Amino acid sequence: MRFSSSLSRLINDHSSYSKLLVLLSVSGSGSLLAYAQSHKDVANPVIVGPEQSDPTTKKKEKIVVLGTGWGGISFLKDIDTSSYDIQVVSPRNYFAFTPLLPSVTCGTVEARSIVEPIRNILMKKSGEFHFWEAECLKIDPENKRIHCRSNINDNLAGNNDFSLEYDYLVVAVGAQVNTFNTPGVLEHCHFLKEVEDAQSIRRSVIDCFEKSVLPDLTEEERRTNLHFVIVGGGPTGIEFAAELHDFFEEDLFKLYPSVKDLVKITIIQSGDHILNTFDARISSFAEEKFKRDGIEVLTGSRVVNVSDKHIDMKLKANGQDFSVPHGMVVWSTGIGSRPVIQDLMKTNGQGSRRVLATDEWLRVKGSEHVYAIGDCATVDQRKIKEDILNIFETADKDKSGTLTKYEFQDVVEDILIRYPQIELYLKNNHISEVQDLLKDSDGKERKEVTIEQFKTALSQVDSQTKSFPATAQVAAQQGTYLSSCFNRKTHCEQNPEGPRHFSSTGRHQFRPFCYKHLGQFAPLGGEQAAAELPGDWVSMGHSTQWLWYSIYASKQVSWRTRVLVVSDWTRRFIFGRDSSRI
Ligand code: FAD
Ligand code: MG
Repeated sequence: MRFSSSLSRLINDHSSYSKLLVLLSVSGSGSLLAYAQSHKDVANPVIVGPEQSDPTTKKKEKIVVLGTGWGGISFLKDIDTSSYDIQVVSPRNYFAFTPLLPSVTCGTVEARSIVEPIRNILMKKSGEFHFWEAECLKIDPENKRIHCRSNINDNLAGNNDFSLEYDYLVVAVGAQVNTFNTPGVLEHCHFLKEVEDAQSIRRSVIDCFEKSVLPDLTEEERRTNLHFVIVGGGPTGIEFAAELHDFFEEDLFKLYPSVKDLVKITIIQSGDHILNTFDARISSFAEEKFKRDGIEVLTGSRVVNVSDKHIDMKLKANGQDFSVPHGMVVWSTGIGSRPVIQDLMKTNGQGSRRVLATDEWLRVKGSEHVYAIGDCATVDQRKIKEDILNIFETADKDKSGTLTKYEFQDVVEDILIRYPQIELYLKNNHISEVQDLLKDSDGKERKEVTIEQFKTALSQVDSQTKSFPATAQVAAQQGTYLSSCFNRKTHCEQNPEGPRHFSSTGRHQFRPFCYKHLGQFAPLGGEQAAAELPGDWVSMGHSTQWLWYSIYASKQVSWRTRVLVVSDWTRRFIFGRDSSRI
């Protein structure tokens, strides 16, 4: 008995070590990480079914997590399962590495290389998790309950509807595409949001080529079939256009030489420039590169209707209508709230808002015990002007009705944490210290400031309040932040670590969420990319593309996907992309 269990342990260990050897031979770096992961695989914790829970264990508080995307996974990765009972609900039983979705549309990377089953991810953690493959249809904060429906085939036995109770709910359901109610978009456009979207685009591109080479088509018909239109000049649309161009140049033109000259890619952008959330240098670099590549960029145009054959637009400058025929349209113009979020907003007094609002601790406003992270919510940053009187009174220790430099100094640290817009304001106005705000109009230090002078000094600060972008970076940082708050909940109840409460006494239990921007990339095709890096650095060209490769390989959630992605890139370099219509 002892021998067999030792043997099985040895075999288990052996299998993980042999996996480790393969990984180490693929990549020289990160060996410590690989070791830690392979070792965790054989640890005891497992995802349990309902009947397997141990009734004798002390009742833990239950956290229900909705969603297995960037926000949900980063929360689950760090949450302490010895303190909480964790239940996860998502219609997707896998995590998808969305930044590589554009590469899936052309077969640069295969769909299965960028997904990791949620149960694999949870198995690597210690502690119990429950995962339910279902969609949450309704959140009922009053009764602390959610109502769900599984999307699993109805032919299987049993009911698909169920409800769950929670002590805390973490909503990380992401967002859905926004069609801006443009007629025909839902029926005739592709989206690029989910893995299935990327797979369907890949098939559709090949269809367009195969159809265009059939006999008995006019040249005009062939040209129409080979007109690929992308609506939206943001990072996703641009990356997709670049991928498509590379796919054509490097692979498809060799296979379909007769129609090579009829192919066209057009990007439609309502603003004046593509990539307008990036530095202006990147945006013009991208525009010039696309011009050289023959990708047409139609700026200042708004799509008003899409049919199966045409896309109708209006020029913003003079209101002129025009229309172009297309073979395929990809709609990539921003995001909107999912129905379950819209429904929650109706019940918690946020019905008039466009996006669900949380406070700086990621608590949903108007719904107690509900937290929201990632694309489904936005942080409503508190304005300093709402608290200005309280800040002044707290700082004015001697109750003189004026603030000295020293009195102000005492609250500086707290206000910098509570109102991050101050730091942005100082940076943008090249002011080195927050105390300099209290200087007079000639730049001279004042001995004391009155409440009116204090209000004037800080009156412009709130103009710098910015909402966070809808990116994986924000969602992941919020997930990590929130799990660390839950993990330290008891400790911080006794030892609050947040800034001072200016409207009452004491301190906030936690520091508010603080986003750290690590930069952003825009791959532009032809082995070139552009990047905005921390410290206002801008980098463009071939070396940036290599930086992109290394960062995106390192950001994979598991060694399995890392190896798959790197081998897909290598396969593409050697053999090109596969054009089979599967
Ligand atoms: P998601 O990652 O979308 O996850 C939402 C989860 O909720 C999913 O598991 C979904 O199945 C689940 N869900 C949906 N409805 C329900 C429901 N009713 N009940 C329960 N679960 C539900 N960001 C970057 O920072 N860098 C990039 O390079 C980048 N590239 C991108 C490229 C593309 C093509 C796309 C589409 C996005 C890209 N993004 C990028 C943005 C990034 O993917 C999102 O900001 C990020 O996914 C948001 O994370 P999330 O957890 O809020 O939502
Ligand atoms: Mg005073």
